Formats: sequence, C-alpha cells, structure tokens
Amino acid sequence: DKAGYHRDTWVEVDLDAVRHNVIEMKKHIKDKEVFAVVKANAYGHGELEVAQAALEAGATTLAVAVLDEALRLREHFKDVPILVMGWTSPEYAKLAAEHDIVLTVFQTEWIEQAARLLKGQTLSVHLKVDTGMGRIGIRSVEEAYDVIEACEQTHVNITGVFTHFATADEPDLKYYYQQMGAFKQWLKQVRSYLPDSLTIHIGNSAASMRFPDDMFDGVRFGISLYGLYPSEHVKEVEPIHLKPAFSLYSKLIHVKKIHKGDAISYGATYRASQDEWIGTIPIGYGDGWIRKLQNFQVLIDGKRYPIVGRICMDQCMVKLDQPYNVGEIVTLIGENQGSLVTMDDAAKHLETINYEIPCILGERIPRFYK
Ligand code: PLP
Repeated sequence: DKAGYHRDTWVEVDLDAVRHNVIEMKKHIKDKEVFAVVKANAYGHGELEVAQAALEAGATTLAVAVLDEALRLREHFKDVPILVMGWTSPEYAKLAAEHDIVLTVFQTEWIEQAARLLKGQTLSVHLKVDTGMGRIGIRSVEEAYDVIEACEQTHVNITGVFTHFATADEPDLKYYYQQMGAFKQWLKQVRSYLPDSLTIHIGNSAASMRFPDDMFDGVRFGISLYGLYPSEHVKEVEPIHLKPAFSLYSKLIHVKKIHKGDAISYGATYRASQDEWIGTIPIGYGDGWIRKLQNFQVLIDGKRYPIVGRICMDQCMVKLDQPYNVGEIVTLIGENQGSLVTMDDAAKHLETINYEIPCILGERIPRFYK
C-alpha cells in the first residue's frame, strides 16, 4: 500500500524475517525471554511494525532508549512490558509510572528525586550495573546498597537488573569474561537484598548468540532481530541463521548517453572516458545516502553498476552498460535477480558498522512492510 507516498525510492521491511529471527533466537536460548530492542525507530526499520512482529513471534518485552519511544509504543501496546534502557530525567518518573513503563536507574539521588514526585504512584525500575562498558550504571556493591536502600523507602520497585557488554562480538573474549566475572561477583553480594522475582538480563545479540546458556532470564535482542550479525566474526561463526529484514530500492528516473569528456555532478569530477550510458536515481544525502557512498555499487537487472560523480542531496548517478528504461528497478541494499548487496557491504564501504546504515536512512524514505 503506497498511499500517501509519491516517490520512487522506498524501503521494504520483511516482517517474516523479523519473526524468523525471534523464533530462532528463542530456540537458541531455550525459551528464556526475548526483549525486542526497538529503539531508534527499530534501528530505522519502523518501531510499531517491528514491535508487533517481534511480539507475535514470542518476544515478551519491548526495549527502547528514551521515554518518548516508550510512550509512543505504549499507545499501541497496552499490556506489554516496556523498558527504557537509557537515563530518563527523574522529572518524568510519574509519567513513566502512569504509563506502566519501566525505567533504568543507577543513581541514589535519582531515586530520591523521583520518589518526591511520584506521590504514591509505584514505579518499576531495572538497576543498571556498569561492569566495563563505562557508559551508565553503578560500578560497585556499595553503590548498589545505597540505591537499594533508597528504593526501599519509596514507591520505586526494583524488578530487574542488567548490564551491557562492550566486546561480546569480538574474537578475543578476555574482556567479555572479565565483565561476566564482575557481574556474577557483584550479583552474589547483592542478590539477597533484591526481590525474589527479579528479571536478570545481560546479553545483547552477540552474547546471546555465542553464550546462550549464560544469559540468566532473558536477552536484549537488537541488531540480529533485524537479521544482521553484530560483527564479521559472529557472522563467520553463524551461531544461528538470520534473515535480513531491510531492503532499499529505487528506480531509474532518467537514462542518457554521454560522450567522451562529458562530466557528471557537482565539481564535474567524473568525466566519461568514452560514450557511456548514465542513469539517474532519486536518492541522495538528504535521505542519508551519504556522499561517501560514491563508487559504491547498486544492482540493476542482476548486475552491479557503480555510483559515479558526487552524490547530490536528492539524486545520484550510476554508470550503466546499456540504455535501461526509465522505471527500471534499482536495488541499493538487498537482492536483485539472484545478486546481493548487503547492509554489511554498505557498512564496509563507509568504514562503519551495519547498525549505522538503516538508522541514518531518513524518514523521507517510506518504509513498506511485507
Ligand atoms: N542493550 C543495550 C543497553 C543497548 O544499548 C543495545 C543496543 O545498542 C542492546 C541491548 C542491543 O544490542 P545489539 O543491537 O548488539 O543486539
């Protein structure tokens, strides 16, 4: 259904792939809980649709980074646990409580401030432990005792505990084991001060794929929910078979012949070395198809063609070997007649990680679902 969209560049998100990835992960971790990490508009895939598909396939909690994301999800998912994994200002503790949203806490003053504003409302929180990520979280047992004590005097209930790994996707597991050891040591000393029914979750996609038996009660399934491996290394090992959900398509909107010496795009940096066919594609850096993607290849008719000349805000040009028709489908990420350009290919070209690509492809590109 393309109603409301009037351009020839679009993303297709395969929700069957999302469901497949959840089901595979659930089997892999022997039915521990799967938290679907749908922050940042589900890594650019579309938060509501992905959340719905993940829940259908057996995910039990939605995890996001900021309260606004949680509030948007709450409008559609009335009874599903929603966890905000980042820091939320204590000003909004009451708002979170009213919408039954679980916040992440790690500061004693936070609890005290929130408690003053809660006015009898009960807020459920997960305690974040920093075992080596160095981002947010309590770093010692003493800090934990302070936070737990502050909670005991308020309407703030600790219902979960979690940590996050910095290197679970790497071949060298030394730092991973160090973090794991630190967490277990910490938990041993703190466990008896926490409620019996507590959800403990430590794993991201990488950790849960590689160490399914060590994941306590559940895993925070992010990148691999979308069918992408967290690193080249994990992809090589392939602990579970994932299906990528995201494809990016466009169409040729203009095709022309240019002659030797003719230039293409800003700066006139590309010059034809002979007669050449050039196609124009309506996507550019205004969509997140950034200038560094120059020389990256797209698929047309199952064949690879390079992006030539500078990428503009809304358009870019490709060098063809024949005069394709206007309207010919261009695959920028995904499959085209048996050929494939992957998110990892784009990430490699941009010297970044696959996570970044769907996140930076902007809202101007509509997402369609199948
Ligand atoms: N848990 C936390 C706290 C995160 O910040 C993230 C995302 O970066 C995840 C889990 C999901 O990680 P991944 O996408 O590697 O599965």
